[in-house]
Amino acid sequence: MKVDYHIHTHLCGHASGSMKEYVESAIEKGCSRIGFADHLPMLFRDDPSLSMSEDELPRYIDEVLGLRERYKKDLGILLGIEADYHPSTLEKVAEMIDAYPFDYVIGSVHVLGDWIFDDPGEMDRYDEVDINELYIKYFRTQESMVDTGLFNVVSHPDLVKKFNIRATIDLKPYYRDLLGKIRDAGMCYEINTAGLRWQVREMYPEPDFVRIGAELGVPVTYGSDAHRPEDVGRDLDEAFKLMRKSGYLELACFSQRNIRFDPLPDSE
Ligand SMILES: [Zn+2]
Ligand SMILES: [Zn+2]
Repeated sequence: MKVDYHIHTHLCGHASGSMKEYVESAIEKGCSRIGFADHLPMLFRDDPSLSMSEDELPRYIDEVLGLRERYKKDLGILLGIEADYHPSTLEKVAEMIDAYPFDYVIGSVHVLGDWIFDDPGEMDRYDEVDINELYIKYFRTQESMVDTGLFNVVSHPDLVKKFNIRATIDLKPYYRDLLGKIRDAGMCYEINTAGLRWQVREMYPEPDFVRIGAELGVPVTYGSDAHRPEDVGRDLDEAFKLMRKSGYLELACFSQRNIRFDPLPDSE
């Protein structure tokens, strides 16, 4: 079983390749199902290199639905979206989510206060903050995101480690709190392999998080976070390996906002 539920498109302004090329890359790699999950217009900051504009959103929906129809014999295509969580834009985000027939909504914390902390251009600001407090704030913000009930998937749940600037406190109690909320909300979290391509050189989230997730019975899914067609399905084997090792037997995905499960394939 090859899948990938976190795929971006050129509309976000920082990804390459046409949407058709992502689909063809998925077919070439033997995927049976994928989901596009491009960035929902980022209302927090109007910048065409961060996300599509509000005007482009209907076009994104049409293109994904058109590709779904056109490739239905070869590949299942889900309509997802990655929405930023920021308290100041919540109402409008909810409106945009409600307006379209999304199969799932990935919720992401990329912004804390006025800081896009995963933007390499804003890395200086790590020098100005207490790193342990930053991690705590990040995990608590993800809990607030889960509490809104707007999202289905928590993406890359320890993205704050992206540049390999690490907390020194024990983060496991924060993992437990967040994971308990994800489970109780009927959501899942994502193992996202993009971290392997950044300074941190490991998947999001770290193995302790996944182990506790399995122990607490929290559903898990997988996404490459591809911003180039060739990255579709990237490092899926490694993600599956970590899931199996942690005790997972199933992989979650969402169709029309309802959770469903596929058995995890045995290791080869
Ligand atoms: Zn992106
Ligand atoms: Zn993201």
